[in-house]
Amino acid sequence: MYIVLEGIDGAGKSTQTQLLKEWLTTKNYETKIIVEPTNSEIGQLIRKQLLKEESTNDINQQMLALLFAADRLTLKQEILDAKNSDKIILSDRSFYSSICYQNNESIDISWVANINIHTPQPDLTIILDLNEQDAIKRCDKEEVFETITFLEKTRKNYLKLLKTEKNIIKIDATPSTEEVQEEIREKIATILKI
Ligand code: ADP
Ligand code: MG
Repeated sequence: MYIVLEGIDGAGKSTQTQLLKEWLTTKNYETKIIVEPTNSEIGQLIRKQLLKEESTNDINQQMLALLFAADRLTLKQEILDAKNSDKIILSDRSFYSSICYQNNESIDISWVANINIHTPQPDLTIILDLNEQDAIKRCDKEEVFETITFLEKTRKNYLKLLKTEKNIIKIDATPSTEEVQEEIREKIATILKI
């Protein structure tokens, strides 16, 4: 299975993915966490561009969207293998991040969807939904996307996905880490019948 956690910066994706792995391990599932951007050379280039201090002006929004799509494809085979086995991939972000983040005046969003068509479809996507004020308080890195207005717009884009996409649910990420995790586990337990 390929399970994706999505949401704006600070929503709790990395925290919840880790806790989910611990729980699934106690249930004897083989699990693997993957994170986007990856540690590939393309992923490292993206991470550098996302830092306010290090971002250069020679990579524009369209180029960034292409880099994200290319970086994502480095995970493709591993995800496909997991989908055909009992292994569970827990992914911190997916192409949905591109749909929601690379969504601005300089980019045709159907083009973003198009350059991502070769990436595998998640079996379940969980959107951790948090308002932008709380999210920004939880952010520590100095990333270009971490502004109230950008996070507000991006959160709205995530909520729109609920109306158009399959196998996608929203979980309120405002409560404590433990409460959010409990809710995620309940949803996954139902799907895995455990
Ligand atoms: P993301 O990966 O979505 O950016 P993180 O999991 O890194 O978010 O969480 C961002 C920060 O917020 C971390 O310091 C984390 O410990 C804290 N955090 C995560 N979930 C919660 C929560 N439910 N309540 C309060 N703080 C949280
Ligand atoms: Mg994170």
